[in-house]
Amino acid sequence: MQEFDYDLFVIGAGSGGVRAARIAAQYGARVAIAEEYRVGGTCVIRGCVPKKLFTYAAHYSEDFEDAAGYGWTVGETSFDWSTLIANKDREIDRLNGIYIANLEKAGVEIFDTRASLRDRHSVRLVKEQRHVTAKTILIATGGTPNFDGTIEGIEHTISSNEAFHLDKLPKSIVIAGGGYIALEFACIFNGLGVDTTVIYRGEKVLRGFDDDVRDLVQKTMIDNGITVDLGDVFTSIEKTETGLIGQTKKGRTMNAEQIMFAIGRSPHTDGLGLANVGIELNGKGAIKVDEYSRTSIDNIFAVGDVTDRVNLTPVAIREGHAFADNEFGGKDVIVDHAEIATAVFTTPEIGTVGLSEEEAVAKFASVDVYKSSFRPMKSILPGRDDKMLMKLIVDADTDRVLGCHIVGPASGEMSQLVGIAVKMKATKADFDATMAVHPTAAEELVTMREPTTRHRRDG
Ligand code: NDP
Repeated sequence: MQEFDYDLFVIGAGSGGVRAARIAAQYGARVAIAEEYRVGGTCVIRGCVPKKLFTYAAHYSEDFEDAAGYGWTVGETSFDWSTLIANKDREIDRLNGIYIANLEKAGVEIFDTRASLRDRHSVRLVKEQRHVTAKTILIATGGTPNFDGTIEGIEHTISSNEAFHLDKLPKSIVIAGGGYIALEFACIFNGLGVDTTVIYRGEKVLRGFDDDVRDLVQKTMIDNGITVDLGDVFTSIEKTETGLIGQTKKGRTMNAEQIMFAIGRSPHTDGLGLANVGIELNGKGAIKVDEYSRTSIDNIFAVGDVTDRVNLTPVAIREGHAFADNEFGGKDVIVDHAEIATAVFTTPEIGTVGLSEEEAVAKFASVDVYKSSFRPMKSILPGRDDKMLMKLIVDADTDRVLGCHIVGPASGEMSQLVGIAVKMKATKADFDATMAVHPTAAEELVTMREPTTRHRRDG
């Protein structure tokens, strides 16, 4: 007779939870996982994956325009939102099915219910109104979109969750926020022909990114027809027969068919029963964990956005995998959260890894910046006046490349590859020694000879 029903119980079947469950089961552990919504989590069901599909859809408007420069005559075009939604849903269903099949193949038992902690070794299965016990518990419940409850009428607005399921494409939308989600959706809706406005409280979008990246993305979005209202926030929202009317702090009145909030996400810890077992949270409400993803209770672990370390899918997957390796595979793996390459699927796309110019200058005494800005080759014949940016940040004392920032077509793909070099601590000389691939945009990364800016700290 086993002391516990399971060796591992995972709460939350998103990227981190599913990976941990599968790997633990492959090591021979008896594993169960509970999910209240759909197996696959935010990334697969209502995040990165459907977002990228929408991004592809949005790019066609630009491609149809550009085709003329290459001699094509494109007939009258039209866009059907319900076709996109249906095709997207079919693909998400397929991926959801693969996730479920992979869990089952590994022998993981799946509970289609919300789960909460009853004590340090037992979990309440809410739908089934019973509890099960486990030696080890993993919390991987992700995050949820923030809303500003102080704004009157906030209930009339949507988040990215609803944006994936709108019955019809709105004629106009205002998106609040200046981060990843706000800008990606603004570019999607704009590309699909929606009259799009971004309202952001700061003076420049994408705080935390390299300044040149922020400038170029903001300018290109405006050039592409998106209205960007800076230094302002909604104070109230009213529903009318024709749509929504928002009032802002600066006294603007904004009319739109939809208003979407993308003002960050918070760790999803509500109703998990964390207090029942004394699991500590940090100041931002995220579960506190050590480098092994162990919480303040030694048999309970947490991975992914609920821990608010680096809120990205591949990071949650690595954390979940490392947890399973350590607890069930006898390994000693610590996830390295430094120099994580990432992409933002705005138009223009961003690919970035390592330190921004501003971060590097704050940290290193001598910093050289290599910067190149040019029209992407594909834009020349269509006469499109967009710009591509390539930027390398180098520690002038050691020649090490500290960061690389790319804006323009395929920069997400490039950031994955240049991310390897940066992670390997490549020097600028290593970049220079690499033969260019011609004609590509990426060749700029190995052909920038002279620094465009040299920062030297006095003394
Ligand atoms: P972000 O943290 O990127 O951006 C939040 C934005 O909302 C910021 O511009 C912030 O302003 C603003 N904001 C915050 N609070 C308020 C408020 N009370 N009123 C008005 N504005 C406010 O969050 P997102 O929601 O865009 O994304 C959440 C996370 O999801 C990201 O951190 C990222 O890790 C992940 N993600 C990654 C993607 C990718 O890799 N491509 C895509 C989508 C999401 P300020 O800058 O002034 O603080």
